[in-house]
Amino acid sequence: MLLIKNASQLLTLAGGLRKESYDLAIIENGAVLIDGDRIVEVGETRELKGSAEQEIDASGHVVMPGFVDPHTHLVFAGTRENELYMKLQGYSYLDILKQGGGILRTVRATRNASLSQLFSETKHRLNYMLINGTTTAEAKSGYGLNLDTELKMLRVINEIDHPVDLVPTFLGAHAVPPEFKSSGEYIEYLKKIIPDVAPHAKFIDIFCEKGVFSAEESEEYLMEGKKYGLIPKIHADEICDIGCTGVAVKVGAISADHLVKSSEESIEAMRKSKIIAVLLPATPYMLLSREYAPARKFIESGIPVALATDLNPNAYTESMQMVISLAITQMCMLPEEAIAASTINAAAAISMEREIGSIEPGKQADMLILDAPNYMHIGYHFGVNLVNAVIKRGRVVWQKHIT
Ligand SMILES: [Zn+2]
Repeated sequence: MLLIKNASQLLTLAGGLRKESYDLAIIENGAVLIDGDRIVEVGETRELKGSAEQEIDASGHVVMPGFVDPHTHLVFAGTRENELYMKLQGYSYLDILKQGGGILRTVRATRNASLSQLFSETKHRLNYMLINGTTTAEAKSGYGLNLDTELKMLRVINEIDHPVDLVPTFLGAHAVPPEFKSSGEYIEYLKKIIPDVAPHAKFIDIFCEKGVFSAEESEEYLMEGKKYGLIPKIHADEICDIGCTGVAVKVGAISADHLVKSSEESIEAMRKSKIIAVLLPATPYMLLSREYAPARKFIESGIPVALATDLNPNAYTESMQMVISLAITQMCMLPEEAIAASTINAAAAISMEREIGSIEPGKQADMLILDAPNYMHIGYHFGVNLVNAVIKRGRVVWQKHIT
């Protein structure tokens, strides 16, 4: 048994998915009792009945659920730091893609990478995730764009041995590889390989965007994935609104992600559905754009919002703390909203809200002890790592040591 006690604020996030109200369900001077990998008791320190052989005194510190990162492209070979110079010269994302850069460059490197290279690059990023407080993440394939390499990426996601839990998404429809003449031709190929990849993934995703995959192609493709038990997700309205959120609603997607350009009509369509809006502010930040997703409109429409890093060679960050800071400063989200969007709502965006994302009896004991006296420091005290300790499945797996 492990007891964490005297937390200045215990952010329990109890009560399920947040929509209109993003309260954090805080217990002042809070304590959590953990048995094995489960939370067994939560309350004020003086009221907790159980005892434990191991105790952590969290006086003066916030204790909260581990961050859940519901949208990452974590597995890739090689980085693309040189593209920052192109972006500084005014080249857009699609300009860089047309010149064989961007996704296609990472596809070449990932196809050429050995399995052990991919494992080791991925592990390096997972270490950064963990020390920055992420305890569960979604991870997409999508830098293979052929059956062999997509399976290689999914194998890394499913087999890597690391405290951060990963949930696999098949994103074969990330870009059209050069060996195919058109997006339509490539979609036909992808539909044929879905049965081979489906046993290795939970979600299916597509980059629905002008010049990449159309709304019609996306709908047909995601419906095909559903036949094999894959839950649809969609990259929508990142650069243009071509009706992709409408597709998300039609196919019953669990989330629509990016949503920078979502029109009033798209937001209205989402409002009537159960879709979670996954917003990725690190992406416009690293595209040197001033335009971010209209988070306030989503929140005020009652659409549940989640946040994610979009970790990839363009937006290269593992830090949900950085994302929270961007969400507050660039999208006017309140700290409470940004924190709920990074925990319980993020868990719901990967269909894991019953297991993780809050501190409640019966749930998996994934939590953080922060170097912060209250939750408002998260996002406010920025550009540094506030995590003092990470508890994963009831075990302290990382601790900050200063000597
Ligand atoms: Zn993405």
